[in-house]
Amino acid sequence: MKFKQYVTWFALVILLCSWGEKGHQKINGSAPEFFHGRLNRYKGWSAVLSEHGSDPDNRRRTDPMEGIRHYIDIDAYQDFVETHLIVEGKEEAFKKYGKEFVRKNGTLPWVTDSTYHALVKQFKAKEWKKVVLTAADLGHYVGDGHMPLHLTTNYDGELTGQKGIHSRYESKMINQYIDSITVKRSHLHKVKNVSRYVFDYMYFNYQFKDSLLNADKLAFEKAKKSYSFNYYPTLWAQTKGFTLLMIENSSKSLAELIRTAWIEAGRPRIPREISL
Ligand SMILES: [Zn+2]
Repeated sequence: MKFKQYVTWFALVILLCSWGEKGHQKINGSAPEFFHGRLNRYKGWSAVLSEHGSDPDNRRRTDPMEGIRHYIDIDAYQDFVETHLIVEGKEEAFKKYGKEFVRKNGTLPWVTDSTYHALVKQFKAKEWKKVVLTAADLGHYVGDGHMPLHLTTNYDGELTGQKGIHSRYESKMINQYIDSITVKRSHLHKVKNVSRYVFDYMYFNYQFKDSLLNADKLAFEKAKKSYSFNYYPTLWAQTKGFTLLMIENSSKSLAELIRTAWIEAGRPRIPREISL
C-alpha cells in the first residue's frame, strides 16, 4: 500500500466506529438485563459496561494494531463467495490464505474469541476489575460483529457509489433513533463452541448488508437525491426491523458469552460492586 493510500485508509478506519458510541452503550448496558439467578449480581455492572463500550474504538487512536480488530471483510475470501464459509481456526486461516491477507481483511472473529478466553482466565483469577473491562471490550467486538458493514469490503458503500453510508447508518441514524431501541429479555443458552458461535452470527448478520445498501438508495431517492434531514426517516423505516434485531442479538450474545465464561471458570462468586 502506498503511503498516501495508507494514510487515507488509516483515517477512515479511525473514523468508522461501528454503531457509534450510543449504539455500543446500548448493547453493553442492556446485556446484564438477560441475567438471572446467581448472575443477578452482574446487573449492577450495567453502567460500567455501558460506559466502557467504546474503549476499543478509543484505543485505535493510540494503538495502530487495534484498527484491524474491528472488522472482517468476509466477502474478500473466495471461499466465502463460493461456499459462504471460510476456514475458522486462526492458524489454519493463516496457512490457507496467508497471514498478510488475513490481517489486511480484519481479525474481528479471532479477537472476539481471544477476548472471551481472556475473560475466562480473569474470572478464574477473580480479577474483577479486569473482568468487567474485558467484558466491556467483548461487548464491543460482539457489537461490531453484528454490524453488516463491518463484515464486507464495501464497508463504506464505496463499491456501489454510496460513500458515507457507514456513518449515516451507524452514527447519525442510530443517534437520532436511540430512544426507540429497546432490548427484550429472553432465555440464555450456554455456548458450546465459542469460535463456531462467533462465525455463525457473523454469517447470519452479513445477509443484511444488501438490505441496508438498498435502504440507503431508496432513502436518498425519497429525499430528492440528498442526505438531508428528510433522508433519515426513510432509512430508519427501511432498516428498523433488522437494526433492532442486530442490537438485541448483540446484547444477548454478550450475555451468553459472559455467562458461558463464568461457567467455564467454575462459577466464581461475583462481588456486588466493583470500583474501577
Ligand atoms: Zn469498533
